[in-house]
Amino acid sequence: MRDLIIVGGGPAGLTAAIYAARAGLSVAVVERGFAGGQMTATADIVNYPGFETIDGAELARRMEAHARGLGAEVLTGEVRALWLKPGALTVVTESELPARALILAMGTRRRKLAIPGEERLAGRGVSYCAVCDGAFFKDRDVAVVGGGDTALEDAAYLAGVCRQVTLVHRRGAFRGGRHLEEVLRRLPNVTLRLEHVAEEILGDKAVQALRVRDLGTRAAAELPVSAVFVAVGVVPDTALLRGSLPLDAEGRVEAPEDGRTQIPGVFVAGDLRQKPVYQIVTACADGAMAATAAARCLRGGRIWKLWGCVRDADLQCGAAYDGRRGFGGGMGAHGGRAYPFGGPPGDMPRGGAGRCGRRRRGGDARPHRRPLSHRRL
Ligand code: NDP
Repeated sequence: MRDLIIVGGGPAGLTAAIYAARAGLSVAVVERGFAGGQMTATADIVNYPGFETIDGAELARRMEAHARGLGAEVLTGEVRALWLKPGALTVVTESELPARALILAMGTRRRKLAIPGEERLAGRGVSYCAVCDGAFFKDRDVAVVGGGDTALEDAAYLAGVCRQVTLVHRRGAFRGGRHLEEVLRRLPNVTLRLEHVAEEILGDKAVQALRVRDLGTRAAAELPVSAVFVAVGVVPDTALLRGSLPLDAEGRVEAPEDGRTQIPGVFVAGDLRQKPVYQIVTACADGAMAATAAARCLRGGRIWKLWGCVRDADLQCGAAYDGRRGFGGGMGAHGGRAYPFGGPPGDMPRGGAGRCGRRRRGGDARPHRRPLSHRRL
């Protein structure tokens, strides 16, 4: 049995794999397609620190190589069920994969427009991935529907491939980033149709036009296009969790930052966790937090108890956990008790005076730390 199985190989899942492998856990990531998740459908990522711009597929490849290089397995398989019984956690693909802990990082899927013609012409000009399908419409006229970052990025990418791009958005202002909007406004082959709704996708065997309506004048128009790229947001991929974990109205899991759920040993990370900002960096942060919490949980019996940092009840990996306050009382949960050598083992969170810091003479509560080179990272 593996220590940890991570479901979903996007930035949250791959980062969790990196942190878990570094914490010495046996870990496998189960991914249905290519590792990287939605990153692989992004042409240029311009807000991932350290890279002014990087191709999404390249960033995904690097994250996967990083995780594999540390010993994480990356398995391909469609997850059919999740058995979330405490003590018998199992991921069911074509086989049953038991694990001591799970991190669920399935991310999101693209939302559908739900207008006539969309389903019938899916794959015949209706697309949910500009980077994947844009080249099929080289030098043709296309439309993008949506007003968030994805729609703006898709329109900018398609402008470099297609002859003319019309961006249709139902409001007068975009939800996506100002920087991207400015880029679009400078592109000569991009037309913005603000305050327009897409009503129907027309075509016999393939897309021939998009019917839109001006919300001000109520006039309808047919845009002759060969493809419609739908970029109207995402829905969390949490269907497998219904009935097991409480989901919010959008289908996201409510969990604290370390991803701990009410099921002992089960953590969530990435875009399926309810949070204020959905970006690659926040997905990575989630993965790091969840893997660290999972490692701490798994080590509980062996190390934490030995070091006297948690009570027996805490070793339930979540059962005694209060998401807002942490183990039995928040940041000062150890009651001021110091670790030997001034810090917890390498897979545990450091810092925070009052967390694991040794109180110094004169009331200085700075954490006592070993020099960086001596720490287990
Ligand atoms: P968003 O939810 O941000 O935007 C969805 C857009 O689609 C909104 O403008 C919304 O309109 C519109 N919309 C929703 N439903 C319909 C409908 N039925 N008909 C017409 N329009 C509709 O989704 P994104 O996929 O753009 O982004 C998801 C998250 O990922 C965001 O947090 C985003 O910031 C992030 N992201 C970040 C990127 C980056 O930083 N490089 C790249 C891509 C995504 P309305 O405004 O009226 O609600």
